[in-house]
Amino acid sequence: MIQKSPLEMTLHHLRLLHQNHAELAAFCPFPDDVKRQELIPYHIPAADIFQNQVGLQPSNYPELRDALIALSPDMLWRETYKDTNIAADFMERFGCYEIIGRDAPYASAKMRSFLVFQPPHLHYPWHHHPADEIYVVVAGEAEFHLDGRPSETLTTGQAAFHPSNAPHALTSHDHPVLAYVVWRDEFETGPVWSESEKN
Ligand code: FE
Repeated sequence: MIQKSPLEMTLHHLRLLHQNHAELAAFCPFPDDVKRQELIPYHIPAADIFQNQVGLQPSNYPELRDALIALSPDMLWRETYKDTNIAADFMERFGCYEIIGRDAPYASAKMRSFLVFQPPHLHYPWHHHPADEIYVVVAGEAEFHLDGRPSETLTTGQAAFHPSNAPHALTSHDHPVLAYVVWRDEFETGPVWSESEKN
């Protein structure tokens, strides 16, 4: 039997997720142009927290969750908000790496996708970006906020849609959360803090 690498496992399970998850399938098909590309890993403290996180459950996708953890030391962890007024605690503990896209092990011209990880009791403040976005909770749970809507707590298998430039935020409480995030359309422009977060 040929053993799949964590990267191959991840791609396999992401393809299944895109095919089988109704909201994700409707948002964006799994891209047909995915190509392996070289990536120089970049490590941040949140990568260690993610590696050692217990309680990343429940999960409907334990194989995907475990593959995302296994490949995390080789990923380019993002520091999207480094030069902004965000608190040091958020910079230390918020985790995000790209899976398909520009700074990712797989390239595609059709979409970008990311892992987002928050340990318990962390608030990801209001932000927005031109891309349409969908979050699918892989493991754990968190409270999702979208401007103009009541907040909702989502757990594994549930999804949140954030339309282009609509401010959104994410709060973990007693549980960690691991989510798969996909961007479509105007996906080359990064997120910025929304007006309410500025000094
Ligand atoms: Fe977003």
